[in-house]
Amino acid sequence: MHRRNFLRRSLAGAAVVSQFGAVGDGLLRAQAPPRPEYDLLIKGGRLVDPAQNISARLDVATKGSKVARVAADIPADSARHVLDATGHLVTPGLIDIHVHVYDGVAPLGIPADPNCIAKGVTTAVDAGSAGAHTFPGLRKYVINVADTRIFALLNISVIGQSTLSGENAWGELLDLRYANVELAAKTIERHRDVILGMKVRLTRNIAGDHDLEALRRAREAAEAAGTPLMVHIGGQASPTQTVVKMLRPGDVITHSFRGGEGGILTSDGRVFEEVLEAVSNGIHLDIGHGAGSFSFDTAERVLAQGLKPGTISSDVHQFNVHGPVFDLATTLSKFMHLGLSLEETIARATSNPSQVFGKLHELGTLKEGAEADVAIFALDEGKFEFTDALGARRTGSRKLRPLATVKGGSLYGDATFPIERL
Ligand SMILES: [Zn+2]
Repeated sequence: MHRRNFLRRSLAGAAVVSQFGAVGDGLLRAQAPPRPEYDLLIKGGRLVDPAQNISARLDVATKGSKVARVAADIPADSARHVLDATGHLVTPGLIDIHVHVYDGVAPLGIPADPNCIAKGVTTAVDAGSAGAHTFPGLRKYVINVADTRIFALLNISVIGQSTLSGENAWGELLDLRYANVELAAKTIERHRDVILGMKVRLTRNIAGDHDLEALRRAREAAEAAGTPLMVHIGGQASPTQTVVKMLRPGDVITHSFRGGEGGILTSDGRVFEEVLEAVSNGIHLDIGHGAGSFSFDTAERVLAQGLKPGTISSDVHQFNVHGPVFDLATTLSKFMHLGLSLEETIARATSNPSQVFGKLHELGTLKEGAEADVAIFALDEGKFEFTDALGARRTGSRKLRPLATVKGGSLYGDATFPIERL
């Protein structure tokens, strides 16, 4: 069977040519009648679907763009195509609520498809790469054309992350005139089908000493649009406790397990009372690993105090995609090493993020009738070295390796993965 790496096949019968290469000739000829009941059957895998409390060997059958049946031993001849997942892990398509995919405009942007749908992520949220002035381009050149299902959080700065922060660069909120509430609210109104909320970054080299005013404006725009706000913490001028008190239930704190100043720990390693209170009030702790925002040391301290993150996201971008982040699957593997069970880990990239933003509510599960978004992984066992954003290392014993992805019933595969028509 000839296939190019990372190709898409139409399971309705016709071969599809994607930007990643043409499907080999003759792969998908019409089958002899009678017409099988299902289009695709993923057979023999271990299904982990936290939204349904499932962790068992079950088959998944799809028809059109939806999940048609989840059951044990669905007959192979009931589907036009059978994907043998024996020995592998089958989950709902992953949801990564913090990525940067404004490739070519935001300096940290990366192409969405090779980094999301090719890695088991069917739904990704671009977290603030674009602001009011640059969002139309994100929509036109990325969201509208990617195979990955992409939503966005709108940066309160009208220029989004079209600059870099740090030396020889300038953060998007150093000039507060860029933090425009009215333009942000209008942009959300115009693109409400794909914008899920607001984003603000508070680090001193991004927001200077006026972090709280930037936050206030982002919150006001979120309020006007009736959406949540994601706040990027770390190294900001004001104490985390003050920042957290300005948030509302439903808001998201990303980079919550970062090391250094401006995180969620006191100097002696306790989680701030204000943060515990915020979590009990419905404010979500998100990971957003990133290039500088995830610390094993912090994670171990927080987990030892009985607090787990609500969502695990990668913050994958140009400056961490070649390490230490690589992809969401690697980030999830780090949390299995930290002691979360496989089911707890998968929940934080499927059912949990599906509840953070309203438009994601129907995703992140394989219940019958749901969108047929499926990820298939090898769960490798061995010795794997993991590195955090500070260069600290841990050796884990399990690692998720993305094999194939289905989005809305269409299959995206890796050339090494066997896809058999039985
Ligand atoms: Zn980010």
